Amino acid sequence: MKVIVLKFGGSNLKNRSDLERILRVVSMYKEPFIVVVSAVNGVTNRLIDALDNIRNLDVESFLEDLYLTYRSFLGEENVQLKKRVYEIQELLMGTKLIGKVPDFIYDEVVSHGERCSSMLLSYYLNENGVHCEEALPENFGLVTDGKFKNASVDLSASEVNLRKFFSQKENYVVPGFYGIHEGQVTILGRGGSDYSATSIAYCLNAKRVDLYKDVSGFMTCDPKYVDGVKPVRKLNYDEAAELSYFGAKILHHASVDPVRKKSIPLYIFNINTFESIDRPDTIISFNDSVAKTVIKSISFTDDIVVIQFKGTNVGRVPGLLGQIASTLGSEGVNIKSVVTSQTSINVLVSKQDIERCMRITSKMQIPEVEDIHYKTEISLIAAVGDGLLKKHGIAARIFTAVSRKHINVEMISAGASDVTIYFIVKLQDRDKALRAIHEEFFKDGENDEDDRTDQ
Ligand code: ASP
Ligand code: MG
Repeated sequence: MKVIVLKFGGSNLKNRSDLERILRVVSMYKEPFIVVVSAVNGVTNRLIDALDNIRNLDVESFLEDLYLTYRSFLGEENVQLKKRVYEIQELLMGTKLIGKVPDFIYDEVVSHGERCSSMLLSYYLNENGVHCEEALPENFGLVTDGKFKNASVDLSASEVNLRKFFSQKENYVVPGFYGIHEGQVTILGRGGSDYSATSIAYCLNAKRVDLYKDVSGFMTCDPKYVDGVKPVRKLNYDEAAELSYFGAKILHHASVDPVRKKSIPLYIFNINTFESIDRPDTIISFNDSVAKTVIKSISFTDDIVVIQFKGTNVGRVPGLLGQIASTLGSEGVNIKSVVTSQTSINVLVSKQDIERCMRITSKMQIPEVEDIHYKTEISLIAAVGDGLLKKHGIAARIFTAVSRKHINVEMISAGASDVTIYFIVKLQDRDKALRAIHEEFFKDGENDEDDRTDQ
């Protein structure tokens, strides 16, 4: 029987009654399972704050408080869990002495919330009749590329290790969010437990990955910004990957890739409205259904800066884009996207790389580039849906809707992916633009029927 991978996030672990709820959900599965668990709600942030203020940290009372969080989940003392919580005591005390936090300590400490959760949950499930073993990435060998704070999983190395380690008949609880590189912990970026779950599913060729959240799957847009959003029941892998790449917070941006590679379906459930394991809120698989609206969802990110390399002929000089990309890349800058024209090469990067980029570009000497300009205070809006390039008039509808609201579009990219059109507006115009497109495509009665079967 194939295993099934389940993941419970921090928002599913707020207090004691959440453990009961997880127990109920887990008991419904007939297959052997691997539960991937995130840190208890708020714990990752508490660990990050502790490191940010390491010089003034009262290590003893910080750990005591942390332990009390777990104690309150169980309603009683638990010596093992206390020992687990205190495993980072020496690291914290040593770091406090140095007064600075090296990367390897950062990742080890920040991932500790997950190790505490896996012990808490495995203890609780066993106590309540669901037999399972706790297993840690350092022991089963979830290998990463070693990039601190934002590592990627090395799927082929991990696959060999996990296949040897896991028995396909046992149940396990494992901490998400991190892997190991040459003996050191490396975290997978914020929200990385989704990615742990899909990577483990890849390695064990799982039947399915079920992600439990506290929101109802993907929506037609973020309900914090737009009224009248609707659930999106089905997405294909490309659509889900693009939506999370361009800002949809429900899914870690790297988590689609491992399951796509093995055609493993990904189900998303809202644990608060959970009915049964066959009724997820969103199913992500290879389905190639084109929605009536074509556009299935709209996402956005403000974490974007455009670097414009301008010159009358830049678009035609061979090798220029390669030179720019490799110079930025060799300094560790991740290029999110590129849009070129005759007179401008536009490189999209994350805000966190802006200072590094400025340092690099100020030293660049490219004769054809007459001016380098940084566009900031912008937002990138992505409209995603399979078939949008084939179906006539979709781009026109998007831009007519936006221009009707007198919003100036700063840049457009269509065609880079088969399922996405994105464009950039000033940050101050973001909400108006989102509402305009949402209204254009998702007026009442225009969304898909409530079909949650994976056929
Ligand atoms: N606990 C980590 C975070 O808050 C990882 C996760 O939740 O997936 O980012
Ligand atoms: Mg979390």
